[in-house]
Amino acid sequence: MAKLFVLSGPSGVGKDTLLQLLLQRVPGVVKCLTATTRPPREGEQHGADYLFLSEEEFTRWIAEDRFLEYARYNQAYYGTPRHLTEESLAKGLDVILKIEVQGGLQVRQRVPEAVLIFIQPPSMEVLRQRLTARATDTPEQIEHRLRIAEQEMRMIPHYDYLVTNDDLEQAVDLLRCIILAERARIAKR
Ligand code: 5GP
Repeated sequence: MAKLFVLSGPSGVGKDTLLQLLLQRVPGVVKCLTATTRPPREGEQHGADYLFLSEEEFTRWIAEDRFLEYARYNQAYYGTPRHLTEESLAKGLDVILKIEVQGGLQVRQRVPEAVLIFIQPPSMEVLRQRLTARATDTPEQIEHRLRIAEQEMRMIPHYDYLVTNDDLEQAVDLLRCIILAERARIAKR
């Protein structure tokens, strides 16, 4: 049976790079496209990076129960369209949802057999350095992201696995091992 994996972790922790490498290295796993109401960033494309929906469309989809989970984050809505995960799972593909923690906890409730993985930075200081090096945020925005990161990290006990992104290669390898081990797990009735 194909499985649903949730990958969460603070902004700047390196989730995108990890996920990109993981998808290259583990056959049979796909990332699920998700929807948001935030405007596209430079270079982002509808249908490739996100389904970019208006607030009106997004709230209609909520009313029609079209999301497996959704959350409000940074003044925008984000949600996983149920049909996209179902289509991939039905093809026998494992699905990874790269979503924030409120969404992760909803998946836990709705799909108890989902596997929740949290990516943490080696320390808050390293996270601060990475966010600073990205040079996309003002110092105030960085402090704001760090406060959110602390709140997100309080949710670690609700997750199944904790991966520290210190050395990139080691972190990708650990993620790969988690997926392979979960595939080998014997389902309990
Ligand atoms: P960004 O705006 O930087 O692309 O994403 C902000 C946060 O929203 C990230 O933590 C990202 O993983 C999360 N996110 C992306 N799609 C979804 C989704 O469908 N549901 C939830 N709950 N979070 C999402």
